Amino acid sequence: MKNNLMLQRTVRAQAYVPLDRIATGQDKVRYMTRTKDMRGWWKIDIAKRGYLDSLEAFHSPMKGRPIKAYINNGRWAANCPDPECAGCEVVDYGDPVFMCLSCGNLRNRHGGQTRLYPVSFPMPDKRKEIENILLKRNRRVNRNWESELETKEDLEKENIKHGLE
Ligand SMILES: [Zn+2]
Repeated sequence: MKNNLMLQRTVRAQAYVPLDRIATGQDKVRYMTRTKDMRGWWKIDIAKRGYLDSLEAFHSPMKGRPIKAYINNGRWAANCPDPECAGCEVVDYGDPVFMCLSCGNLRNRHGGQTRLYPVSFPMPDKRKEIENILLKRNRRVNRNWESELETKEDLEKENIKHGLE
């Protein structure tokens, strides 16, 4: 019974990830919230969690070292750079910023204010190449790319190994 419930939860959490493209934060927002963009959703979520100081991040320029985006289970994602936080969020190349819903970016303070972190994605041509290679894989769980640790050639080799062109 418990296993069944866990399985259902996993399936539901993945439901916003489309099969025909790699999902971004925008897909998650559209599917799971009534807000129209990631920033709107993040503001509501961090306010609910009581990170009121984090709201100022949306009124100041982003700052901090860019976080590298990667692909996990068919979604663009990024990890919180705070070593004491294990936060991970779905991110969007259309608005490459990061607000950690686990810690509220509270350690990313500059000039007395909490800031959004910038997120770095591959350049559009390279990004599309990587996405297209992964989209040949039928299952979303197999659509993974570990940022610059994995080259486009590595992904192609994996596809060939599994009988995909
Ligand atoms: Zn965090």
